[in-house]
Amino acid sequence: MKILAADDDALSLRVLQRSLEKWGHEVVTATDGSLAWKALLEDFAIGVMIVDLNMPGMDGLEVCRLAREALGERVIYIIVLTAKRGAESMLQGFAAGADDYLTKPFRPDELRARVDVGFRVIGLQRMLAERVVAHEATQRRYRELVDSLDVIVWEAELEPWRHRFVSQQAAQLLGGRVDRFVDCDMWLSHVLPADRPAVEAYRERLVAGAPVAECDYHVMTDDGRVLAVRDQARPVLDDQGTRRVRGVTIDVTERRRAREQFEAAMKMQADFVNFASHQLRTPLTGIKWMLELAMTEEDGSADMRGFVADSLEASGRLIVLVNDLLSVSRLEAARTGSAASRCDVAQLMQEVLADIQPVVRKSDHRLEWSGLDVEHAVMGDSQLLRQVLQNLMSNAVKYTPPGGRIEVAITNDGAEVLCAVTDTGIGVPEAARPRLFEKFFRADNVSRVETEGTGLGLYIVRLIVERAHGRIWFEPAESGGSRFLIALPLAATPETAPASAVEV
Ligand code: ADP
Repeated sequence: MKILAADDDALSLRVLQRSLEKWGHEVVTATDGSLAWKALLEDFAIGVMIVDLNMPGMDGLEVCRLAREALGERVIYIIVLTAKRGAESMLQGFAAGADDYLTKPFRPDELRARVDVGFRVIGLQRMLAERVVAHEATQRRYRELVDSLDVIVWEAELEPWRHRFVSQQAAQLLGGRVDRFVDCDMWLSHVLPADRPAVEAYRERLVAGAPVAECDYHVMTDDGRVLAVRDQARPVLDDQGTRRVRGVTIDVTERRRAREQFEAAMKMQADFVNFASHQLRTPLTGIKWMLELAMTEEDGSADMRGFVADSLEASGRLIVLVNDLLSVSRLEAARTGSAASRCDVAQLMQEVLADIQPVVRKSDHRLEWSGLDVEHAVMGDSQLLRQVLQNLMSNAVKYTPPGGRIEVAITNDGAEVLCAVTDTGIGVPEAARPRLFEKFFRADNVSRVETEGTGLGLYIVRLIVERAHGRIWFEPAESGGSRFLIALPLAATPETAPASAVEV
């Protein structure tokens, strides 16, 4: 940083220059006011100016005034030299924009001290200016970041509600300029009248000190479109300790539309499956009866009887499929219509085992069980829970070659009833295990043993178990076969159990 020394008195200028240079400063000199002003304009490195007030032509005061008025942001520390003691010229110097003064003749050490102060002040001013620039750059970056977000970021003053800041996205969404929302509550005028009470209630919650609040409502854009938006905000204290609210507003129109379309499609699909299954079930049952009747007739060729037997089997499979589809659509739509009641899993399993006995005997399976002689109570729909057990047992029979062993074990740990069905059958390949409970899933290895199957059984089982707040999972059995386990919450004791604590 350079020092400009301006004095029409050549001797005094030389003294000034020598002294300053001796102290290590770079000095520019001027012998009158206009040369001083020219030097200031041309040399941006000049940071301190020492100027004599009494010069012919443009005097020191004029140079001070010009420097203050015309140099804009440029920081110059000005020391004026006055010839006579007394307040008058000193005050004139300050009025013209000087920062300090020295009365001629001055002591060198006084000059040095004043110049040092000047450098310190300039240093501080420059540091401050740099900080302001850096701060402004940070703020600009922050604004750009906020404006580039796909949400509206805003800040509002409370009581009365006035937006202090609203990000550019508001203009993108609603149209117009974003500053029309600032320092007023213009936003509310875009909220659909039907939603205004909800928005006002949401704001009141925030004013009342709710730590966070949310609101879904609709806004009308400048070109008349209606958008669904979601607001989320929280109260904050700003730097001055004033309560404000900061929040984001997200345009959820597309998301909501997609969800509604998806839900409508799902409902249509479920309704169709439900309708089709109902419509199919009655004629199918009729066909089955007819075929059963035909089987009892003596007449007809052996071939014909074979055809009828095959048709009967096929109709049985169709009925199973239709029933499965119906179960799925009912469970998915949660239209089971059944209230939960206390059911004994051990008792249900005994009934299932009794039903399955003939098949087990035919296929020469060995059946073992434990834990069926004590009650293991859960809350649920007994018919659906029986369906779960039936499915696990019939799968164990289907996927275990003749002569295999099937083991049923029911226990409870005081919190859950655990039911495990283990077989020595074909097992489940590792890659298929994660998908076992998906709709229509069948593992690759089953086609060798059992070509028929809908892949719906375990899916239905999972839906029922989950509706009863239970869990189902698979474990490979030591024999290479399968173990399916279900865990259901143990029902409370009869005295304390509420009438329908858990709904299936
Ligand atoms: P489905 O038996 O009609 O194919 P499920 O939904 O009942 O349908 O079973 C889905 C798949 O899970 C079966 O196709 C089979 O791959 C596998 N699986 C189920 N139970 C067993 C079991 N006990 N042993 C081996 N695989 C099984």
